[in-house]
Amino acid sequence: MGFFDKFKEYTQAISQIEKSIYGEKQDYLEIYERNQQLEKEIELRTRELNDANKRMLSLQHIWDMMNSSTPLENVLEQVVKSIQGELGYLHCAIIRKLEDENGEYMQIAIQSKDSAIARVNKIIGVPIEVRRLTYDPDSIYADTIKNKKIVQTHDLGGTLKYIMPDLPDEVAKAAVTNQPCKSLIIIPLCPMNSEFGWFCVFTSREELTEAEADFLSLYAQQIEMSITITDLFLAVKEQAVTDPLTGLFNRRHFEETLKKEVTRAKRQNQPFSVIGIDLDHLKQINDQYGHSFGDLAIKTVADVLKSNARSVDLPARMGGEEFNVLLPGIDSNGAMIAAERIRKAIEAKELDTIGHITASIGVATFFEHSDNVEELLELTDQAMYMSKRNGRNQVTLAKPISETSWQEIAVNTFIEILSKRKIPIPQEVTNDLKEKLQDTDLSKDTLYTVADILTTTYNPMHSKGVMKSKVLLATSLAKRFDLSKEESDNLRVAILLYDIGNLMLPQELLLKTTPLTEEERQHIKEHPMIAAQEILKPISYVQDVIPIIEHHHENWDGTGYPKKLSHDNIPLTSQIVLIIDAYFALIEHRPYRAKLTPQEALEIIKQDAGKKWNEALVQEFVKLTELDHV
Ligand code: GH3
Ligand code: MG
Repeated sequence: MGFFDKFKEYTQAISQIEKSIYGEKQDYLEIYERNQQLEKEIELRTRELNDANKRMLSLQHIWDMMNSSTPLENVLEQVVKSIQGELGYLHCAIIRKLEDENGEYMQIAIQSKDSAIARVNKIIGVPIEVRRLTYDPDSIYADTIKNKKIVQTHDLGGTLKYIMPDLPDEVAKAAVTNQPCKSLIIIPLCPMNSEFGWFCVFTSREELTEAEADFLSLYAQQIEMSITITDLFLAVKEQAVTDPLTGLFNRRHFEETLKKEVTRAKRQNQPFSVIGIDLDHLKQINDQYGHSFGDLAIKTVADVLKSNARSVDLPARMGGEEFNVLLPGIDSNGAMIAAERIRKAIEAKELDTIGHITASIGVATFFEHSDNVEELLELTDQAMYMSKRNGRNQVTLAKPISETSWQEIAVNTFIEILSKRKIPIPQEVTNDLKEKLQDTDLSKDTLYTVADILTTTYNPMHSKGVMKSKVLLATSLAKRFDLSKEESDNLRVAILLYDIGNLMLPQELLLKTTPLTEEERQHIKEHPMIAAQEILKPISYVQDVIPIIEHHHENWDGTGYPKKLSHDNIPLTSQIVLIIDAYFALIEHRPYRAKLTPQEALEIIKQDAGKKWNEALVQEFVKLTELDHV
């Protein structure tokens, strides 16, 4: 073999090696590229899966809410929140199509809170959510409802002008330029073929994929279904007339029937009666045997009421452990017999584990005790409390207000405040005070003790026994000024209640040791009066007491508040409250000053004669207190 042959052979061999190396490199490259593609594919699919998952989750969420009786607004709020946040839309809104006497219009029901809407609101001035938006039957919105079809539009300015035609062009333009939203997707909401409104989403993407459109339509269907279901829930709830635990009629039905009964009674000039029943010591039963036995006791009472009712009677559970029976056409004699029969039947029942239970009962009759239905219910309650006070397990007939003593009125007012008004006092305290009042023997001082304790909750400087002294002093003053029995009674109740509004003042303010700011002083001045009115307004038998309280900061010379009344325009009873309040405040310790002696306090009161209070009142007041203290 010559040199050239050898060379050729080597070159061939080398090129073969080169080729094989290159070939493998090609393979590697291909594999590498394929791998990369696969990875991309996996990433894409994972993302799709994630998105699908999120969509499923938000659908699931809506489903969950549909199965509970969540109010519609909350459902819609959740819809908007989950779709915007999780699926990355810039802004979402549910718009209602509404109608009133001025015609059809549109209004945002709920929308996501985001920078997109904040920006638009800033530009258009009045926020879009509070505007009445124009419904234009030729608009893209109307079209979507007509065609029941989802649409995407890039003409953001145009859609804005449809709903706000009065918006100046340059403002509409400014609202849609230089911002990330590129398109608006409008999905009609037509649950049960109604024209409910629209579900709108704003996105930064130009195009809507088919998958996304499908999803949004599906989502809208879920919204429609939740609207339908929520409406149904509401309708069912509103139609319900019975209480689920006992099967008795519920409070709403009782009140509705009562209203009709009043009309009937007035038209036919016939009476009707209400029996109020409250289980005795249910709390103890709950505590001792557990809630299910408490429920058993409640059901037992319900059964007794059902089996004792005539077909025209209406036994109802008013809530908790309170029951009422409405007896059409029955006067107080008949109602007392029915009530006694109910009491005996409850007492006779033998219950599993708990044994016997009892109930306290009150009876009141329309016309005979009152011709005002609210007052009648209160009188029933009062009579029931009287049964509690006298040892429970008994029936009491209501007394007309005119025959009720001022102590009874005061006790019942406190019970009412403690059980029905929302006052910021711990439950244990209210329960304890209520119990004390319910067991009150009116000849003892429990009423004053409770009033003292209650006052101490907003004024820790208040000392025990003060309430009684104040009432005694007020009574003596009333006598000296020849007030009628009624005025004197109202005055005594007012003395116990005039500061009740302080319950609603923040503790920090009352305990401040540093001087108050002008604003704080104003608050302390005005707020308690408003609070007192709110607390007492619903209690019909203290209506004549409220004006006394309202004017107990008016000064004789017209420098007081709230009306700047002067001289005899101020009720004398209010003047008495003012002077008594001032005197007892002076002899009590205050965070910002030491307490004064009675003599020092009287000196101050004398100085203000003719200014804060009338001179004759000061003279009598000084005489009376000097008797006590000197
Ligand atoms: P009194 O004889 O003074 O009426 O005492 P009481 O314990 O029955 O009355 P109070 O008003 O102090 O307490 C009522 C209790 O009734 C407190 C509450 O937890 C309970 N209660 C209210 N509704 C229900 C209910 O549906 N089931 C059960 N088990 N207990 C209830
Ligand atoms: Mg009870």
